[in-house]
Amino acid sequence: MQYRNYGKTGYQVSAFGMGCMRLPRIVQGDEAQVDREKAYEMIRYAADHGVTYFDTAYGYHNKTSEEVLGEALEGGRREKVKIATKQPFGIMEDLSTGGGKTILENARRNLENTLKKLRTSYIDMYLIHNIQKSTWDDIKKNKIIEEYEKFRAEGMIKGIGFSYHGQFPTFKDVLEFYSWDMCQIQQNFVDVEKEATAEGIHLAGKKGCALVIMEPLRGGLLAAPPVQVKAIYDEYPVKRPAVEWAFRHVLDYPEVSTILSGVSTLEQLKENLEIFSKPDAVPGCLSADEKQILARVKTKYDSLASIPCTACEYCLPCPQGVNIPGVFARYNDGAMFGSFEPPRRSYMFMTRGKQDASFCAACGACEKKCPQHIGIIKELKTAHEALKGWVE
Ligand code: SF4
Ligand code: SF4
Repeated sequence: MQYRNYGKTGYQVSAFGMGCMRLPRIVQGDEAQVDREKAYEMIRYAADHGVTYFDTAYGYHNKTSEEVLGEALEGGRREKVKIATKQPFGIMEDLSTGGGKTILENARRNLENTLKKLRTSYIDMYLIHNIQKSTWDDIKKNKIIEEYEKFRAEGMIKGIGFSYHGQFPTFKDVLEFYSWDMCQIQQNFVDVEKEATAEGIHLAGKKGCALVIMEPLRGGLLAAPPVQVKAIYDEYPVKRPAVEWAFRHVLDYPEVSTILSGVSTLEQLKENLEIFSKPDAVPGCLSADEKQILARVKTKYDSLASIPCTACEYCLPCPQGVNIPGVFARYNDGAMFGSFEPPRRSYMFMTRGKQDASFCAACGACEKKCPQHIGIIKELKTAHEALKGWVE
């Protein structure tokens, strides 16, 4: 296993970080739960084979991921690894759940629950989960970071970080506002210039902030390329599985501390560990020719998108709250990568947020504003049919 510096914390972590949001599941009808025996086996296998970084969150797997991770690591492994977990501002704000009368009391109560579920007395890295442009001002106003500092002073957490899914300007604001110990962002070779972007990676590195990458395989979509993409990989003299190409794109950045992979089977885990243990799985691992291959693969993927939405957001806001570009992005993911399963899961979260295509009332307001002249109402229906039905 390759190891890398974890920002200014002074310690190193495994370049492979085990993400605990796609653990093996048992689905029965409309219910799904973690297959605990399989999950324990995978987590313990990882911890016993050099993985020292585990990532979870309060909400993953219907709030059971932390518990499963804690149970798996209990009995000697917990002390050998670093655990990162996250609390979203949304659940701090939700005062209806009992146990807290204020946002800060809620935040503390939720952390106490997390510690119990993880069967530990401290969290190595505690994140504000998914900071967004729309929540950032409230996070500052409610002094959430100051409360995290109290948690740290009391020994409940060791480091303070955040995860982020929005655009670069807000990422820069958040990063520069505070001396964070770490930040967690999405990066993969198809989305180099989306979300926090490569510039965000360099900025975090300059600040000495540990950088954790999520979605290096785009929710697993980059693991099984369609034939048109596979043909490009096959041209290269060195033969590698598609997952290795995708991992090498993020391994190439010297600023990256650890790369999260949300493995769902022991076989996937073993394949990932092999890749991250190669002597050349290090910063600067991509040659100019290899970067060319990845650029061509990205162009090919882009050409497979079926709805020409540019995410300009001119069609927003929708009076019914439909996240039109979000729906189209998920549908295009399914079309581009040849599998609707990962986007279905992410669409389920849009449904929970009442932003999915089923809320469209066909008022037509959005279609008049779309510079791409997309038949939005019709395309939303098509996308909904393809994306609905994930249970968790
Ligand atoms: S047509 Fe549907 S998606 Fe478009 S603005 Fe009206 S309700 Fe929203
Ligand atoms: S206006 Fe059209 S192109 Fe822009 S986000 Fe909306 S649907 Fe996509």
